[in-house]
Amino acid sequence: MRIREANLLVCGAGGFIGGHLVSKLFAMGARSVRAVDIKPFAEWYQIHPGADNRILDLQLRESCLEAADGVDGLFQLAADMGGMGFIENHKALCMLTVLTSTHMLLAARDTGVKRVFYSSSACVYNGEKQKNYAVVPLREEDAYPAMPEDGYGWEKLFTERMCRHLYEDFGLESRVARFHNVYGPWGTWMGGREKAPAAIARKVLEAKHSGSQQIEIWGDGQQTRSFMYIDDCTRGVAEIFESEIREPINLGSSQLVTINQLVDIAEEIAGVRLRRRYNLSAPKGVNGRNSDNTLLHSYLGWEPSIRLRDGMKKTMAWVEQQMLAGVASK
Ligand code: NAD
Repeated sequence: MRIREANLLVCGAGGFIGGHLVSKLFAMGARSVRAVDIKPFAEWYQIHPGADNRILDLQLRESCLEAADGVDGLFQLAADMGGMGFIENHKALCMLTVLTSTHMLLAARDTGVKRVFYSSSACVYNGEKQKNYAVVPLREEDAYPAMPEDGYGWEKLFTERMCRHLYEDFGLESRVARFHNVYGPWGTWMGGREKAPAAIARKVLEAKHSGSQQIEIWGDGQQTRSFMYIDDCTRGVAEIFESEIREPINLGSSQLVTINQLVDIAEEIAGVRLRRRYNLSAPKGVNGRNSDNTLLHSYLGWEPSIRLRDGMKKTMAWVEQQMLAGVASK
């Protein structure tokens, strides 16, 4: 199915990735885009005047039917989620997103939507494979035997299975990408739901502007991760949506860094050098995680194009602008 000339729906469009995705779909020639989120408009990260913007609670079946009415394809990104600080402490909220995903999938089936995209996560992967800092990049089959991140990861894995079985039983076409740490401007950068790149960008900039010369890091800083810039993410989402890939597939960067190295990059961009204080009792997630992109590369030749330093530079410029403008986190 092509994005060009299609009538599309983005669920969670008031959020970070959803907001960028609406722009991407318009840029690719979508005929119409309906943008839906539960938040009041004042809290959406981006609002596109050309979209059919609606505030709906997609945990409710009737709202999903209204949202899906008349659309050819939809992107289910709506979720109650955040970085490790949020998902380790709000497992029930994370799992309750199962209502949103399930009702949205059933609405797609019942209103004749031709294709669904579902944003899964690297948190579906078996925790046993993520105990070492020196990771072997995660391949798609490493999600089983199932031992995902408690709460959030179980919801993602369950919905992946739901996508698969709705296709088998009812012919509903779905495409599922497992996102690995997405970052960039117009995302959450404070307030408790922010993820590592935005949190580190903010802390380094706060230290610079306050002159405090120090930074608190969650964990021992040796944890390894990869981070994907938002433009690579939305390009990957669009390509996977249009593809014939019917299995869940990784969408992430394979440029592995430690959290300490991420702080090095942020310090270099900000032009500061800070004393590091390691908070070993803070949520820190698995010790190591990286994305193996072999499968996606073999299907689509897809590779991330934006280096971490370049993406962090853009992200920090945006965060700094928000800080200096005194904008509260949404
Ligand atoms: P986000 O929190 O910025 O956006 C999610 C949006 O969903 C929010 O605006 C929220 O208000 C909305 N929402 C929540 N419940 C809703 C409901 N009941 N009805 C309507 N809208 C509702 O998160 P994001 O970073 O943009 O993530 C988008 C998707 O990608 C999520 O499904 C997330 O789990 C997944 N994902 C993101 C990352 C990442 O690094 N950002 C990594 C893995 C997976």
